[in-house]
Amino acid sequence: MLAADYRGPRRVRADQKPMPTIEHPRDAILRVTRSCICGSDLHLYNGLVPDTRVGMTFGHEFCGIVEEVGSEVENLKPGDHVLVPFNIACGQCHFCRQGLFGNCHESNAQATAVGGIFGYSHTAGGYDGGQAQYVRVPYADVGPTLIPGWMDLDDAVLLTDVVPTGYQAAEMGGIQKGDTVVVFGAGPVGLMAARCAWLFGAGRVIVIDWVHYRLEFARHYCPAEVYDFREIDDMAVFIKRQTDSLGADVCIDAVGADASGNALHTLFGKMIPIEAGSAIPLHWAINSVKKGGIVSIVGVYGPTGNMIPIGNVVNKGITIRANQASVKRLLPRLIDHVQAGRIDPKALITHRVPLEDISDAYHIFASKLDGCIKPILLPNG
Ligand code: NAD
Ligand code: ZN
Repeated sequence: MLAADYRGPRRVRADQKPMPTIEHPRDAILRVTRSCICGSDLHLYNGLVPDTRVGMTFGHEFCGIVEEVGSEVENLKPGDHVLVPFNIACGQCHFCRQGLFGNCHESNAQATAVGGIFGYSHTAGGYDGGQAQYVRVPYADVGPTLIPGWMDLDDAVLLTDVVPTGYQAAEMGGIQKGDTVVVFGAGPVGLMAARCAWLFGAGRVIVIDWVHYRLEFARHYCPAEVYDFREIDDMAVFIKRQTDSLGADVCIDAVGADASGNALHTLFGKMIPIEAGSAIPLHWAINSVKKGGIVSIVGVYGPTGNMIPIGNVVNKGITIRANQASVKRLLPRLIDHVQAGRIDPKALITHRVPLEDISDAYHIFASKLDGCIKPILLPNG
């Protein structure tokens, strides 16, 4: 079968690989119908995630048709169309039982923090991902969710990560009616977070980025007030000016360690390596939120390199909430939101690319070229 093949930093190509097989009675094999490239893949692509091995197949956002199931999988059968949460969750451990499916202990027992994630290095369990014609899905009786007959597959594939992550970013912000919410990052995750902020009662939504076509999209899609951070001298002063000197009620970091390095390049004329600390949006969030406010982080950071201004967190009495999205916990209500038209995921898709051209798709998405917001791969045509 054809599958993504990581060859080293900024080198991903499509190659022939062996078909996946059932390795455990709770596995299923899926024929992939849609697969996305995510901002999180850019951390891998740029070689920033420890233990990303050459030869790995990336891809944690995919949906497909069940091809085969292991002997212990009772709730799926061949032919079912399913979307698959990016977190690999056993459904039974201490964390899964609390709905913390992103922190499953069984799927990545050697790690101290994150649970298993498809196609996300050996740090996240070493599972191959879905940027491929076929993929093995462990614990297939837990994550895979039947795609309702009325749902467009383009919407379904975005329910595997972008929608739940954006929604959870807003949820963790504890948004109260009328709140001013500032979202750093107008990538797919930030756009979805800003859109969802309204569902929680926000009174005002501000989106900060520097990529103009994304800001323009945010203006209409979220909808949000938008600002290019290159035109702002001091972020905290600017946000205070916008908010009667108080600061934002909620700040959301939907950037993380800037995988492309573009923004930091522009700011400092050179890329800051992740080890040296590249948490600019997080600093901005902490410094711009009001006293007693909430900072919600869904942007992904390495274990080091965060250099949080912890003194300001203490002195301002800020609450920080962060996690990988717990996709399975959120799916029922998100499917309702999509059906009711309150969230329109597929509007984010700008590029549809055959798997053969994956190398171009990574380049375009990483470079923020060609108006790219969300590229999807069509592994089986
Ligand atoms: P993306 O790369 O498409 O978007 C990131 C955006 O941030 C870009 O538009 C970039 O120009 C902008 N940016 C860079 N520096 C900035 C700054 N200082 N201030 C404001 N904007 C800045 O990525 P995405 O797919 O939207 O993902 C965003 C982040 O969310 C990534 O870190 C990704 O790893 C993370 N993520 C987390 C989860 C989770 O479960 N927690 C799930 C998916 C993605
Ligand atoms: Zn993702």
